[in-house]
Amino acid sequence: MSIPRRRFLKMMLGAAATLTAGKVFGLTGTNLEVVSNPYAYPPEYRGWEDLYRDEWTWDSVSRSTHGVNCTGSCSWMVYEKGGLILREEQAADYPEIDPALPSVNPRGCNKGACYSAEYVNGDRRIKYPLKRVAGTARGAGQWQQISWDQALTEIADQVIATIQDHGQDALTFFTPIPAMSPVSFSSGVRLAHLLGGVVCSFYDWYCDLPPGSPITLGEQTDVAEATDWVNAKYMILWGSNPVLTRIPDAHFVTEAKYRGCKVLAIYPDYAASSIRADRWLSVNPGTDAALALAICQRLIATGQYDAAYLQEQTDMPLLVRTDTGEYLREADVFAGGSPDQFYFWDAGLQPAPMASLDLGGLSPDLSGSHLVDLDGGAQVTVETVFDRLTARLNANHTVAQAAAVTGVGAAVITGIADEIGAAGISSGGQVMIMHGAGTNHWYHNDLNNRAMLLMLSLVGAIGKNGGGFNHYVGQEKIWPVNGLKALSFPQGGGAQRFQNTTVWAHVHAELEDQPTGLSQTTRGYIFDSVANGWMPLHPEGALGTDKNSFVNNGVPLRDPKMMFIWRANWFNQAKGNNYIEQSLYPKLDMIVDLNFHMDTTALYADYVLPSASHYEKYDINTTDMHSFCHPFTPAIPPMFDSKSDWQIFQALAAKIQERANGYSYPDPKWPGGIRYLSSLLNDFTNNGAIAADIDATQFLLDHAPETVGMTVAGITAQPQRFNNTTTWTSNLEAGRPYTAFLKNTEDKDPYHTLTGRQQYLIEHEWFVEAGEDLPTYKPPVVAAGEEAYPLLYNTPHGRWAIHSTWRNAKQMLRLNRGGPICYMHPTDMTSRGLVDNDWVRMFNNHGQVIIRVKEMPSEKTGRVTMYHSWERYVGVKEQLANFNSVTGIRIKPTQLAGGYGQLHFALNYWGPTGVQRDTRVEVEKYNG
Ligand code: SF4
Repeated sequence: MSIPRRRFLKMMLGAAATLTAGKVFGLTGTNLEVVSNPYAYPPEYRGWEDLYRDEWTWDSVSRSTHGVNCTGSCSWMVYEKGGLILREEQAADYPEIDPALPSVNPRGCNKGACYSAEYVNGDRRIKYPLKRVAGTARGAGQWQQISWDQALTEIADQVIATIQDHGQDALTFFTPIPAMSPVSFSSGVRLAHLLGGVVCSFYDWYCDLPPGSPITLGEQTDVAEATDWVNAKYMILWGSNPVLTRIPDAHFVTEAKYRGCKVLAIYPDYAASSIRADRWLSVNPGTDAALALAICQRLIATGQYDAAYLQEQTDMPLLVRTDTGEYLREADVFAGGSPDQFYFWDAGLQPAPMASLDLGGLSPDLSGSHLVDLDGGAQVTVETVFDRLTARLNANHTVAQAAAVTGVGAAVITGIADEIGAAGISSGGQVMIMHGAGTNHWYHNDLNNRAMLLMLSLVGAIGKNGGGFNHYVGQEKIWPVNGLKALSFPQGGGAQRFQNTTVWAHVHAELEDQPTGLSQTTRGYIFDSVANGWMPLHPEGALGTDKNSFVNNGVPLRDPKMMFIWRANWFNQAKGNNYIEQSLYPKLDMIVDLNFHMDTTALYADYVLPSASHYEKYDINTTDMHSFCHPFTPAIPPMFDSKSDWQIFQALAAKIQERANGYSYPDPKWPGGIRYLSSLLNDFTNNGAIAADIDATQFLLDHAPETVGMTVAGITAQPQRFNNTTTWTSNLEAGRPYTAFLKNTEDKDPYHTLTGRQQYLIEHEWFVEAGEDLPTYKPPVVAAGEEAYPLLYNTPHGRWAIHSTWRNAKQMLRLNRGGPICYMHPTDMTSRGLVDNDWVRMFNNHGQVIIRVKEMPSEKTGRVTMYHSWERYVGVKEQLANFNSVTGIRIKPTQLAGGYGQLHFALNYWGPTGVQRDTRVEVEKYNG
């Protein structure tokens, strides 16, 4: 009902009179009258209030969540009325793990609370299939609305032509983080699997993978759920900023403190989580390994370590030949002996148990050197890993040496080490590192990881509730991982082409070669790694045969030709953004993006297919932050012309089958060696059994020990904790928060490493060449071409976005300066003549971005911070640019290693990480 302005003013006068006289007046016609019950007053004057009342009526309520790689995995209830989504509310009905423990309820964050407003009903929603207007450039934003049939036909024809002209490995598929919506993940991956296309990695590419974990523990990552934080006696927030980036779980830090946990924060800047800590150490950027190793040196020097733990769980007692620096093996001692049997010393040479970590009453020496008879009659001196490591620490990593590089005083380091030692030994290992991207995005991230792991091993903290290396970067934990594999790769992983994205992007974007300080340049190590079969590179033959010239120089190389991207803002988030645009994208004949909003990747695509939002489809969502399974369910059907990812790729499979007209092609990867497109749709849907989204979701639940027995209806009624038996490093127990590596510490299962133990000695020749056979510290690297730029470039995760999602959201932009900014210390601003809110040009040899600067006294001098993920088109001047316009793609040679125990390529497990924290830039006032 509309109210004329004149009448409304009279009503206001009536209300004022009410206040002054203590009586209630109403309006009849043009007269004011005293009324006894204002709520019963003529409804014609109260109808406007229905606007608000109607907000609290609805037709249906559905359960869903957000698949944005936030790690929150919060269950929400979504309210629908008249076919439209009104809003969302936190479900807050997770069961309790134990009533004595703090609850995981309620879960949510500022971003999730405006998902429906910003994305489901937002003005950037992709409504129809779009095709880039012929003759316009990618990124120009010129679109033609087309029908689904036209879009699918043209894309299917391009797929078939690519296979025929360039081979199936010229088809590239990128989608990240299955845990955030595994059915959507599987949709395109399953099509890639059936076609012979290449599935790209993401966990390493986004630099979420901590390489020290596979190196030391033989695991990609496994961590404690957030509830276990309250079991810690000593917690170190090391490059992890949970107050900003783990909003649903940050309260567990405070609750740990209520229970007596001491909290130490280690960041160069006074990050938001510092306020939750008992002490904050402002380390110099990139020196974390030096600090960790000095703590290790102090712990060993003062005897503050858990000897029994080291004997059983680690390679510390294993014997190493002093002549080769390699483990003593049975093959060294006996003719025909095993190369995989290792030794320690317990009143004599003893084979270390390999089938179990149980020492069976043995007590191997941690120290000592001995003369051992070798096969053939020679003798060699052997010593323990522990002694070799101790000698290295005493030589290179003392407290005084660390103080000189970290900027942390020697007395402080000593005090911290003693606190950690005392807490660890007295509690049996309840010392926890909450590890984040702040320390993992460095070129030497593996050294950071290994140093911190060593510190935790010394106090017996890995594989303990309240302890461990809890690396919270990325929503990497797909609990029912076997269900995901069954849905994604029906013929098994052996029939699938996988690709480390960092290598793929580096080669195809033609990054400049780099000296490494070792015997070869980056290019040489890539070439050897691929030639050795350690790392894949697709399309096969992309390197040519000449190590020194594999980047396009006239040699006919094979290029990727077609790329599918879904559930990702791949281009926006790609390091080396300008190289991707200028060298990689021109090689791609067609880029197809599935999206529900016009992000940067969609903007630069050739076809954009409208996908269902998070509130319009079936799927599940899991995270390492808690141990509960809950679903996405559709509150409404997909809006406009959109479809779920599962339905889009299914429709494309049908169209490819139709257009292929019986075409088949050889593929040695595929069982039988021939791929038949004539059965593509039935292969995709298991003959119709998993054609519907809900059936694909149930299929996934049915094929994993963590979820078998669960139903979509059951987890829709209420989230359920995963089953006790898991494929991860611990099983789940009722009443006990999940923590990692209990199968090793409690069940005595060997680790998935060469030695079956936490392994600190890596004998691989490339590690030895780099001087990284044992944990060590190396300073940040200055890339060739970046020497002239004085500021370290820091790109952390922020408060007002989850990666690029919500970066363009009005409600979030209102909470900061409304556009991309960088943060600098006042000293660095003054020396450049800058004042707060100036437009500045941040630049280096890779490119530039023009943004505003914000003064931040809590920033470290010598560093500039720009929170990551700003879209290329948001708030910048002169040209489309973003936070990745000043990054390159760096590859650390040791991360290309293979053919050694736990060092073997596997998707998202082992391969070069997309590091960028060592990048250097300059900032100057922009006068354009
Ligand atoms: Fe939770 Fe993530 Fe949604 Fe935020 S965006 S409410 S953290 S699921």
